[in-house]
Amino acid sequence: MSLWFVESASSAHKLEWKITREVYSTRSPFQYVQVVETEQFGLALILDGIMQTTVGDEFIYHEMLALVPLLSHPAPRNVLIIGGGDGGLSREVLRVSGVQRVVMVEIDAVVVDVAKRFFPHHTASMHDPRLHVVFDDGAAFLKSQAESTEKFDVILVDSTDPEGDGPGKFLYTSEFHADVRRVLNPGGVYVQHTGAPFHNPEVLGMVTEDVSKKFPVCQTYWATVPTYPGGIFTFTAGSLGPNLSQPIRTLQGETQWYTPDIHRLAFALPPYIEHLIRSDIQISRH
Ligand code: SAM
Repeated sequence: MSLWFVESASSAHKLEWKITREVYSTRSPFQYVQVVETEQFGLALILDGIMQTTVGDEFIYHEMLALVPLLSHPAPRNVLIIGGGDGGLSREVLRVSGVQRVVMVEIDAVVVDVAKRFFPHHTASMHDPRLHVVFDDGAAFLKSQAESTEKFDVILVDSTDPEGDGPGKFLYTSEFHADVRRVLNPGGVYVQHTGAPFHNPEVLGMVTEDVSKKFPVCQTYWATVPTYPGGIFTFTAGSLGPNLSQPIRTLQGETQWYTPDIHRLAFALPPYIEHLIRSDIQISRH
């Protein structure tokens, strides 16, 4: 009899992956953590029943969340990652020339431990001396940063989704966006994922509306991620200067998804997406 992992993307849509085995599971203080081996995408990390990342397609999301902002910024030295406990995003950030320090604020140490045990490719750079992992709620960390002098050139939010009762919901509030803006250096940029528009369209609209009020530039881009519901996955950026749709630097080394053309094309929005980002908001687009 076959084993299947089933994710409910909504009350009317489920995704199913045939699995060969459940490798590990535990309940952390924040969420239910599972590792399963899927037949098609290899090992997968699941938090509170939601697919987070798989060995088979993680490169798409991590390259697009890291390389689009970092290769549009003239000199990204100090980077803040909020979430990202599986290590994939910090691996991509640390590849970019000029990055001197990466602070990763991850609320759940269990996720980092599980990633180190089962996802060696994701965590390949977690030994890098430039990476500093802080176990804290990202929203609380930013509040504490108010008194700190440390500012960041790029802030990337790689969290679980804001739906439900998980800790990700604290990272999609207006107060959080205001705190992000306060700890960015002049000319800084921030990006957070804004989910699957066919399943949670309100997230994209809500974040765009708020970020457009707090940043001189607000931009949306997208990628297709096979293991996320609805295929298309969006990212919302707030910029204090750079136009994220135009790469101004190049990456040394191989990628599996990102190219300068893919970078530019990711900002070509179909009318369906344009509509979701609230046409009544004049978004300053380059
Ligand atoms: N790629 C995934 C996605 O797009 O949904 C995200 C994967 S990563 C594993 C998500 C991480 O965000 C988890 O490790 C979770 O513990 C962390 N996280 C959620 N809420 C957080 C918060 N408020 N502060 C810091 N980390 C948080």
